[in-house]
Amino acid sequence: MIFLDSSLDGVDVAGDAVKAEISGGGASSSGRRRARARAKATAPSGPFRVLRWRRDPYLNTDAGTISPAERGEVFLLNDGSEVHMDLGDYERFLDVELTGDNNITSGKIYKSVIDKERRGDYLGKTVQIVPHITDAIQEWIKRVAMIPVDGREGPPDVCIIELGGTIGDIELRPFTEALSQFSCRAGPKNFCLVHVSLVPVINVVGEQKTKPTQYSVRCLQDLGLTPDLLACRSTTPLDKNVKEKLSQFCNVPVECIITLHDVPNIWHLPSLLKVRYGHKAILKMLGLACLAIEPKLDEWMKRTICEHLHDPVTIAVVVEHPYHANAYHSVFEAIRHASVACQRRLVVNWFPASDVEQETADKSPDLHDKAWSLLKCADGVLVPGGFGHVEGKILAAKYARENNVPYLGICLGMQVAVIEFARSNLGLKDANSGELDAGTRHPCLILMPESSETLMRVGTKRTFFRTMDCKAARLYGNAKYVDERQRHRYMVNPEMVDKLECAGVSFVGMDETGQRMEIVELPSHPYFVGVQFHPEFKSRLGKPSPLFMGLIAASLGQLDA
Ligand code: GLN
Repeated sequence: MIFLDSSLDGVDVAGDAVKAEISGGGASSSGRRRARARAKATAPSGPFRVLRWRRDPYLNTDAGTISPAERGEVFLLNDGSEVHMDLGDYERFLDVELTGDNNITSGKIYKSVIDKERRGDYLGKTVQIVPHITDAIQEWIKRVAMIPVDGREGPPDVCIIELGGTIGDIELRPFTEALSQFSCRAGPKNFCLVHVSLVPVINVVGEQKTKPTQYSVRCLQDLGLTPDLLACRSTTPLDKNVKEKLSQFCNVPVECIITLHDVPNIWHLPSLLKVRYGHKAILKMLGLACLAIEPKLDEWMKRTICEHLHDPVTIAVVVEHPYHANAYHSVFEAIRHASVACQRRLVVNWFPASDVEQETADKSPDLHDKAWSLLKCADGVLVPGGFGHVEGKILAAKYARENNVPYLGICLGMQVAVIEFARSNLGLKDANSGELDAGTRHPCLILMPESSETLMRVGTKRTFFRTMDCKAARLYGNAKYVDERQRHRYMVNPEMVDKLECAGVSFVGMDETGQRMEIVELPSHPYFVGVQFHPEFKSRLGKPSPLFMGLIAASLGQLDA
């Protein structure tokens, strides 16, 4: 069961618990990622089954229409929901599969209330932020908290909600009001609020400043919320006297003030929280201490090895211009998972596709030379999904194909590989995708019948292998089919498949209709694989995506091993 069963409507909430976290002034992204949870005292002894969800402040109903240049990558869920990139970290961290309902945006809440108003559901009442929006938020929490995300039957034991943003944000007000009401309804031991805030260190003197935290806690209290725990982001562990001061001014016991200081990588966090007794404080708060077992962190400790690996593997990643590293977060994570599995220190040489184009050579020769040297010194090349800068990506695919350098093309990365092959090996100089040159006489990629410029084919789809005698099938353990997540509008033109195959391309995976080519390989190349789907979204540390494993292994010359 979960979270707010009907008991929250005032009758029996004993044993149900909720923990919430609100980011304070300047909390970092790692800090933005805990929220609130609830557990049932009658649950079996830990490990507790956890459900996570996240709230985003924007009015877009989902992240699908937001440029990755603004808020990082659009993470794609099994059900086709396009959500904030942090949901990807939740899936990877907990090894769960979430649904679109696990990402609540202001847009979704407002839309649901306005839809109800238009249907006349409010029976003539004046519709207002309080109580209608605030009630809708609490209803959403109650409903979603019942949905398991770990593949097992029955509701989770604990629900964690991240309330993103910064206290004082105008968009947060309906949510903080809803949570304040909700904490009253849940009652003590059923709701735990973890406030993540920043403790800056003045570099010159090394002094840790408590004022931002004091101030954000006061803001929270004004909003009717009292933090149970403070999770303090800082560059260094908090001094004893700093904790005491925070405790005095924020009314939080010293043992409930946890330092989250900088660590070499995110995988250190569970053990950091354990040595600081963060788990004990939370379990006590939720009345679960007697039911919990000691966290076993051996697996997590193994994961912290990344920074100790010595021998490198270098992968060139060809990206779109205005995007930053966050726009490729899952891709970078997936390459890291595979390189850790191969015991290699990952070096990513990433550069914008346009930098390798001739136009850049004319305007900024230094940039052009730098990009080409990054490409040429890499052991393998990866072209991720995207929506433009095709010519530079085609040059990268051509370089990899002609020089026997391992290549993994994802979505647009597959499409450019097909265009490049048609241009080079079929002599079709103007071959292109209909997306980028609507007038091309040789469209290698065409709009899918069910798509439009604004309607994508999204979500987990099944790809069937046409042959088992290919690298992709072997990497997937000779499975007959694979389920991976898709997000695209264009597909390989079925009319060109035969011609391309006669010239040496092999379309080894397709959808159930046989119309859509999902995996392409060059059998004559050490590792040249393109996939229409996005394998990066399902990769996990300890369970790396087979195709990323293929790329890294081939880059090390160890594919057969
Ligand atoms: N722009 C291409 C399409 O819509 C590829 C999309 C992607 O890479 N996700 O088909």
